[in-house]
Amino acid sequence: MITRLQKFSDSFCDIHQLPRLKSVEFTAIRRANGLYHYKLSTVEESRISLSSGMKEHFGFKEIMETLLHELTHHYCYCKFGIEEIGHGETFKRYCSMFGGKMNENIAGEEYASAASESYVSKEISFRLYCSCGKAWSREYVKMPTVSSMRNRYCRTCKETMDKWKKR
Ligand SMILES: [Zn+2]
Ligand SMILES: [Zn+2]
Repeated sequence: MITRLQKFSDSFCDIHQLPRLKSVEFTAIRRANGLYHYKLSTVEESRISLSSGMKEHFGFKEIMETLLHELTHHYCYCKFGIEEIGHGETFKRYCSMFGGKMNENIAGEEYASAASESYVSKEISFRLYCSCGKAWSREYVKMPTVSSMRNRYCRTCKETMDKWKKR
């Protein structure tokens, strides 16, 4: 699959007249579906990492949507400079135009159609619940421990959270 993604990335760069990326690779990142690593001095050294968790939890469609998101970072960096490398208005406009996805907080109402729920970090994290049944906000915790649970109180009944489950 990686060769297919690298070829896609190369043709994306060619079509938009951007320097090709040094590499597109699957790595063990868990905090994000993908990352764009840019090099300030030499843009040809820029590369994209995709979370190998994408292959485990999602399909080709979601992997492509992530790749397009990261390629949009490369696009915005090359075309508009370092100040447009983040998730600003320019990024959002191009990301949704290219068919990339972003999380719902970034997308907001204007780009809601480009929002995605498919995140590796959600798949591998736990959601906390109080014994009264209330969930601990919308927060996902990577690895809940007994001691970390003692610091979390239910807003409704003020008990400490004592359960956790995936999703
Ligand atoms: Zn991003
Ligand atoms: Zn409670």
